[in-house]
Amino acid sequence: MSKLIYLDNAATTKTAPEVLEAMLPYFTEQYGNPSAIYSFASHNKDVVAEQRERIANALGAKSNEIYFTAGGSESDNWALKATAEAYQNKGKHIITTKIEHHAILHTAAYLEERGFEVTYLDVDEYGKVNPADVEAAIRPDTILISVMYANNEIGTIEPIKEIGEIAHKHGILFHTDAVQAFGQVPINVDECHIDMLSASGHKLNGPKGIGFLYIRKGVKIRSFVHGGAQERKRRAGTENVPGIVGIGTATKRAIATMEERTAKEREMRDYLIKRVMEEIPYTKLNGHPTDRLPNNANFCFRFIEGESMLIRLDMAGICGSSGSACTSGSLDPSHVLLAIGLPHEIAHGSLRLTLNEEITKEDIDYVVDQLKTIVSDLRGMSPLYEDFAKKQNK
Ligand SMILES: *Cc1c(COP(=O)(O)O)cnc(C)c1O
Repeated sequence: MSKLIYLDNAATTKTAPEVLEAMLPYFTEQYGNPSAIYSFASHNKDVVAEQRERIANALGAKSNEIYFTAGGSESDNWALKATAEAYQNKGKHIITTKIEHHAILHTAAYLEERGFEVTYLDVDEYGKVNPADVEAAIRPDTILISVMYANNEIGTIEPIKEIGEIAHKHGILFHTDAVQAFGQVPINVDECHIDMLSASGHKLNGPKGIGFLYIRKGVKIRSFVHGGAQERKRRAGTENVPGIVGIGTATKRAIATMEERTAKEREMRDYLIKRVMEEIPYTKLNGHPTDRLPNNANFCFRFIEGESMLIRLDMAGICGSSGSACTSGSLDPSHVLLAIGLPHEIAHGSLRLTLNEEITKEDIDYVVDQLKTIVSDLRGMSPLYEDFAKKQNK
């Protein structure tokens, strides 16, 4: 099978050729340490500053508010742990949601073990957080609200502006995990009253192992890595110059191509959803019908195990996902699908397909044709489906 159709862009993306090209000299000729005095290395200092500027511009932020990290997980850990520590004299209550990425949920659990209290907000059947619930959860000792910009499994885009306004009105810090949204939807940190924002290079056609945390000027966050004076003394360690050039170039590219690229993805995604919903019975579309990431489709096929579907799709050269990559390997259904109210047996039959701009109509036709056969084969082997079909025919 030589054909490969990659529909797992929420797990990671291909580094764009122009991004790789921009990075290469920083592995070879331009390897100097940006902290060095000689002019050979000082170019690298300028290059890092230039990437910080590019990213700041993309968010309506200032470049001294961008801190490079090793990725989305580190940014999320930093935002939660370091604000918890810095603001614990004010209070020990944090508000987040039930559908966050594990980088947030497991960090929140870690803080609970250390005496913090966390409220995990429910979401509606489409995975939306209700801003009124956020406001109702606020207590005098609330120090942080963390709500993701867009969900990585079902693609739902959250009412970030409304939540930011509430946080701002109550004088509470607001963090958003924008790892999925950054580069896919326009984001402005001032308009949304965002105090901290996490993003990651490899989710936007940049390299793995590089990300950033936006920290609004004035936020008293603790240093995350102690050592040298890099990242304004808040995150020590010699700068990952190739990675920083990678995420900076990927950001520039994502912003410049956003309109055209996401329009293409949206068109193909809508075509995929239309065909699947029309041609495969007993199927549910998960996530919000309109407020969703342009490249995300997520379905539940009744009477089917997601894992078996993935194996059959793999044999047909199609990469998809069931639940998030971090939970695959475990048999628990996705916490996100449970949070939108799906029963276990239905949540087990989920399939996430996330597109990129290279996916064509022919690709989608091939995928849907394969999917129809696979779903029908697997249902043919399912005793549950047999019972169900018998009842239908009575
Ligand atoms: C991928 C992802 C992360 C983790 O980012 P890494 O760079 O892989 O550490 C965090 N949050 C969300 C929403 C993600 O999709």
